[in-house]
Amino acid sequence: MKAVVVGSGIGGLTAAIRLAAAGHHVVVMERNPVLGGKVADLDEAGFRFDMGPNVLTMPHEFDQVLQLAGTSLADEVHLVRLDPQVTYRWPNGSTLEVADDRNAMVAAVEQFSPGSGGAWAGFADHAAGVWAATAGTVLAGPPGRRARPSGDLDAGRTLAKASASFFDDARLQQLVNRYATYSGSSPYAAPATAAGLLHVEQTFGCWYITGGIGRLRDALVRAATSMGVDFRTGVDVGRIASDGRAVTGVELADGGGEGAEIVVSDVDAAHLYVDLLPSPKQARQLDKAGVSTSAFVVCAAVRGRTEGIGHHNVFFPLHDRQEFKFLEAGQLAIDPTLHVSVSSVTDAGQAPPDSENWNIVVQTPPAIGIDRKLMTAGVLNRLAERGFDVRNRIEFTRTVLPADFDARYRAPGGAIHGTASNGKKAVWSRPGNVGPVHGLYLVGGSAHPGGGLPFVAIGARIVADLVADRHG
Ligand SMILES: Cc1cc2nc3c(=O)[nH]c(=O)nc-3n(C[C@H](O)[C@H](O)[C@H](O)COP(=O)(O)OP(=O)(O)OC[C@H]3O[C@@H](n4cnc5c(N)ncnc54)[C@H](O)[C@@H]3O)c2cc1C
Repeated sequence: MKAVVVGSGIGGLTAAIRLAAAGHHVVVMERNPVLGGKVADLDEAGFRFDMGPNVLTMPHEFDQVLQLAGTSLADEVHLVRLDPQVTYRWPNGSTLEVADDRNAMVAAVEQFSPGSGGAWAGFADHAAGVWAATAGTVLAGPPGRRARPSGDLDAGRTLAKASASFFDDARLQQLVNRYATYSGSSPYAAPATAAGLLHVEQTFGCWYITGGIGRLRDALVRAATSMGVDFRTGVDVGRIASDGRAVTGVELADGGGEGAEIVVSDVDAAHLYVDLLPSPKQARQLDKAGVSTSAFVVCAAVRGRTEGIGHHNVFFPLHDRQEFKFLEAGQLAIDPTLHVSVSSVTDAGQAPPDSENWNIVVQTPPAIGIDRKLMTAGVLNRLAERGFDVRNRIEFTRTVLPADFDARYRAPGGAIHGTASNGKKAVWSRPGNVGPVHGLYLVGGSAHPGGGLPFVAIGARIVADLVADRHG
């Protein structure tokens, strides 16, 4: 059958490979001149930056997809398992390096906060149980199909409640609470199901791809091309065409179109249900759910080497709750968490000799106006206060604002993961993988099971299974 995939994010690319492997004739239509969506890189004056994701978890999900094209992740990219995975830093000067090995991590936590090593082991066991339940239900199919009571998923309480029940040390609560932000949500509203992500990182590792995450995108594009997938860039889809019952193809914004029996949407669900296939019921549900956060990204080309900086560093503020109160109110936090990734620490090819490529990410509310210069200066000043002053060594900075995410990828307000995963039913209430007309399917971070590279790949697997069930 003929299938059109709208959008070439990682969800679109993995769906295209799976549909081509099932024997469908697949066309991918992307409005931008380049493929990969939020997996975007910047290469300037010898400095290379990942402007979107920079940590790969669950690489096996991508190996599985690439095997369908007769290759493997190990054949396509060079993977580095990071250890430490990340260095957390607090305003009082304390630091904690997250070890890749569980036992080493228990020992590190015990040293960091005497008496907390056992709590860490207990929380890791709890996270393993939550993950097993998540994998068997949420990740096993579209919403509704395998829905079960949420007990095992620990969805009846917030992540902040769960972290407080395990740890007395507020710093460790803050560390665990960060997992809610992976889906653009608040730990004070997101279900404790997000704890499963700790198990994912501690078990499957945090990985760097030599050359940057863009090499994963390139590998997926190569694999899809080898299977006959037809990529069309610079093509803006304006409407999903249907006869009222089933999809008939897509219409392009500037005229023309493509017939298809299957349409897979990898675009933000709000763009789909407001613009491409106006669907008042679905649009109302999106409104009710509320939106995920956006981000301000600074890519800073830094001369010289910085003593003590790791590959991934998180600078926490003093007050965890206060940051999320600002975000919930739609405001920039006065003292936000700063995520600083310097991949040249692991991969010298990412920056010229004796230089570093700093990528700094700050969570922001969606749809907020930001002054690039002021915000960049604020972020660099804050890092200087925390002992990492690179202000006099900056060669250039490039920034990405919420408005850029909106304009580039049609992510309304620049929300990174579509709707937020807040509330007890959040894991089941994201836009489903089956659209309101026959033959329409949804993948990508704004649809079930949510955002993050492995999750959008799992969404593509769910959709490929649905297509096999319903279309043969
Ligand atoms: C700053 C940042 C940091 C992140 N860090 C991580 C991380 O470390 N690890 C991790 O796993 N995840 C991370 N993520 C999340 C991850 O990047 C996303 O979940 C994932 O890339 C989203 O893929 P997607 O399939 O939803 O497609 P998207 O990347 O959203 O792509 C959708 C595509 O559809 C195209 N499109 C939209 N409308 C149309 C139209 N009408 N016609 C044609 N094309 C259209 C867009 O141009 C875009 O290319 C991060 C994201 C950001 C922004």
